[in-house]
Amino acid sequence: MSTDTGSNTAPRLSVCLTFDFDTHDAWLAGSTNPAHVSRGEFGAVAVPRVLDLLAGKGIKSSFYVPGFTAINYPWLVEQIHDAGHEIGHHGWKHENAGDVSLDMQREIYEKGAAALEGILGSRPVGYRSPNGSYNGDTLTVLVENGIEYNSHFSASDFTPYYLRRDIWKGPGEFEFGEPVDIVEMPFAWHLDDFVHFEFLGGFTSTLNAPSAVREIWQGDFDWAYDNTPGGVLVLCMHPGVIGRGHRLRMLEGLIDYMAAKPGVVFERVLDHVTTWRAANPLDSYRKVRSPHNPRPY
Ligand SMILES: [Zn+2]
Repeated sequence: MSTDTGSNTAPRLSVCLTFDFDTHDAWLAGSTNPAHVSRGEFGAVAVPRVLDLLAGKGIKSSFYVPGFTAINYPWLVEQIHDAGHEIGHHGWKHENAGDVSLDMQREIYEKGAAALEGILGSRPVGYRSPNGSYNGDTLTVLVENGIEYNSHFSASDFTPYYLRRDIWKGPGEFEFGEPVDIVEMPFAWHLDDFVHFEFLGGFTSTLNAPSAVREIWQGDFDWAYDNTPGGVLVLCMHPGVIGRGHRLRMLEGLIDYMAAKPGVVFERVLDHVTTWRAANPLDSYRKVRSPHNPRPY
């Protein structure tokens, strides 16, 4: 006799596998070295491998794509989209948004969004900044453009929250601002493949074994599963990084481990955001004191 009531049960834990599909754009800044920039080209080689893995596991996920990558590899962006994955905004040429003016951020945003729209016919509603670079104006641009969620802040781990538009008066000087209608899907550097696996002088110098990375990622998964029912684990990966053979094997094994746990679901980021937003309306959220809203409105 079947007693399966799974379809009516909220997930114990959601897992969002996310991929920043960077290519040359991520390596061009300040470089005239074609060997250096070729590291980005491998991202385009690896996308089909990642898509095959996700298809084999029946998982839909979210990809964040710079406009420059989109116009150079439109057929890969179409393949991602046609497979049912979400595509979000990831800058134009992988610029550091935190280093430029408000007007320049608006221009960069527009070029990136227009490139995706030209291929997909619609504009993205999810955003992840290249290099985790923001400044006090960035949320203004995202709000102006109807962005529904962001995924590069680290004020939580397995629970989404609304971002605040804080008031920055200069380096190190800020005041709490009001929550805005952008859901943050928490990010953490230890859940990002790049810092574990890639050599980049002055930034990372480690080339870790996949087993070491799996220990960290699985450790967070296990803790979240036990302690944050209804929560979400967001892994940030890059096809050009995780798409190397030994690392793909690790990811496949980790997916199988997570999928075997009762109540675990794999979701696109936007799908989780939509569910979370419905359960946590901004009007109610703003009235309740929390670490992310220390001065209720
Ligand atoms: Zn990137």
